Amino acid sequence: MNKYVPINSLEVPRFAEIKTFMRLPNIKTTEDIDYAVIGIPFDTASTYRTGSRFGPSAIRDISSLIKPYNAPQKVNVVEKLSGVDYGDVSVNPGYIEDTYERIEKELLPVVKSGAIPICLGGDHSITLGELRAIAKIHGPVALVHFDSHFDTIDSYFGKKYNHGTVFRRALEEGLIDVEHSIQIGMRGTFYSEKDLIESENLGFEVITSFEMREIGLANTIERIINRVGDKKAFFSFDIDFVDPAYAPGTGTIEVGGFSSMEILDMIRKLKDISFIGYDIVEVLPCVDPSQITAFLASNIVFEFISIIALQKK
Ligand code: MN
Ligand code: MN
Repeated sequence: MNKYVPINSLEVPRFAEIKTFMRLPNIKTTEDIDYAVIGIPFDTASTYRTGSRFGPSAIRDISSLIKPYNAPQKVNVVEKLSGVDYGDVSVNPGYIEDTYERIEKELLPVVKSGAIPICLGGDHSITLGELRAIAKIHGPVALVHFDSHFDTIDSYFGKKYNHGTVFRRALEEGLIDVEHSIQIGMRGTFYSEKDLIESENLGFEVITSFEMREIGLANTIERIINRVGDKKAFFSFDIDFVDPAYAPGTGTIEVGGFSSMEILDMIRKLKDISFIGYDIVEVLPCVDPSQITAFLASNIVFEFISIIALQKK
C-alpha cells in the first residue's frame, strides 16, 4: 500500500522543485489514493476574457505555500490522506466537444476507482465534461454551485456549449439531481428580470448575493445543507463568486461579493455533505499580478481536501 504525500517544506524549501499542487507527487495513478488534483486548462468557451488555460499552473505554483494542518477544522490532511497531482487533461483548444470527450475519458478511471477528483479550471464550461464522468458512475448528483452567475443560459452567440450554459446542459443530459441542487451568490447586472427566475424555473434552489446579505451566512449554510440532504453532491466553485477585491484574477468580475474569510468559513461548514467531486474554475493569472486569486483558489482546494480528510473513515 503506497501513501502519497507532499514534499516536506520543513526539509526542502517551498520555492524549490517542480511545482505540483501542494507539492504532491505528480503520478497518474488511481491506486492507493483518496483524491486526485487534475488540471483542465481549457478556456476557449469564455464569453469575455480568456486566459484561464493558465489557471492550473498558477494555482499549482503558489500552492507550495499551503501547509498540512487545518486549524479551524482540526485536521491534518497529510496524516489522514494519500493524494496525487494527476497532471492535466489533454484538452483541445477551440474544440469544446472534443475537449468534453477527453475530460470524460480521463476522469472516468479516477471516479471509478473511488478516489475523489478535484479539478482546476479552465473556464466553467469544463464542468460538463466532469459531470458526464461522475454521473456515469454515481448517477445524477446534487449540485452545490458557488458563482456570481447562474450559468444556465440556453445559448450564447447561437451555440449551445460555453461557460454560461453549462448547468442547463448538465440538467438536460440528466447529470444533475435538480431537486437537491442549489446555486449561491448570483449578483451584478443582468440582461433582464427574467435571468433571475430562469434557474428556479429549471428547478434549482437559488440564493442570490442580495438575499445572502439579508438572511446572513448561517441561514445560507443551513439552506444548502437542507437542500442537498444525504445525496451525493458535486461542488463547483467559480472564483468570481468572491468579491473582486479578494479575487481580481478572473474573466467576468462582478462587484459586491463576499470576502475570502467569509468564503473559507462557508466551505468549512459544508463538511458533512457527501461530496464526490469538486472543481474550482475561472482563475485568470494574466490579471492576477500579486497571485492573490490563485492563492485563494489554492486555499479553497485545501478546504476541499480537508473535508475529504474529515470524512475519511
Ligand atoms: Mn461560472
Ligand atoms: Mn461566474
